[in-house]
Amino acid sequence: MAGRFAPSPTGPLHIGSLYTALASFLDAHAEGLAWRLRFDDLDEPRNQPGAKSRILRSLEAHGLHWDGAVERQSERLCLYQAALETLRRKGRVFHCTCSRKVLAESPTYPGHCRERVTPIPNAAIRVRVDDAALEFTDLVQGHQRTRLDRTVGDFVVKRRDGPFAYQLATAVDDGDPSIVRVLRGRDLLANTPRQLHIVTLLDLPAPTYAHIPVLLNRAGQKWSKQTGAPAINDQTPRDNIRACLTLLGLQPPDLGLEPMIEWAKSHWHLSRIGKQDQAFN
Ligand code: GLU
Ligand code: ZN
Repeated sequence: MAGRFAPSPTGPLHIGSLYTALASFLDAHAEGLAWRLRFDDLDEPRNQPGAKSRILRSLEAHGLHWDGAVERQSERLCLYQAALETLRRKGRVFHCTCSRKVLAESPTYPGHCRERVTPIPNAAIRVRVDDAALEFTDLVQGHQRTRLDRTVGDFVVKRRDGPFAYQLATAVDDGDPSIVRVLRGRDLLANTPRQLHIVTLLDLPAPTYAHIPVLLNRAGQKWSKQTGAPAINDQTPRDNIRACLTLLGLQPPDLGLEPMIEWAKSHWHLSRIGKQDQAFN
């Protein structure tokens, strides 16, 4: 049984991703789970050369040692294909050729291509959603209730330009019976109902979810590569981990890196995490 950290190799680890990695690591250990590492690397053009090895080096430098082999979504394509076939057998997918312009006209998918069940070239593949509420309880954000038909509508599981969509790949990976916990940033909360929809259609066991606050920069934006987050400095791992622990509501004693992490494992409580995003400069 495991939790997981699933970075996209679009750049080096930064303070925001280290914070999430640490929280997921501590949460998994506190629950007696393994901590697995998976690269969300399906969006080929966004992958940065060298980012995977750099992320691995940073995690190791910060004492965040993962269990088992590193996984890559790009090496799991046959699993996603099999999932897509299952959805197809259940009559759940269709081929969509709607233009960007048409899609931009309504907040939810307008349903034009719902009857196009035989494959056609140069089309995205969408999964049908239900006109019913989808509910789950997030361990940090509380009870959630969403109507996918009213918020997104039938959504893309395989993109027109080829790759499987994040929603499908992540649902399949997190629906693996060994993954029992998904702790990630609150910015991803809105994806969870889509992933749960797929998990349910595939008859996979759903993990429990914990969406923690994200770190914001001075401008109130999530720290990310897009908002100019600098790479984490691997030469100061103790200070970086200490800063993240404080942001996670812990008050670490003055210890070296590894003892501080051991201390944090035994003091971790998900219930101490607030719901609100936090500024970090
Ligand atoms: N790869 C995604 C990201 O870096 C996270 C995916 C996830 O945890 O589900 O934002
Ligand atoms: Zn369409």
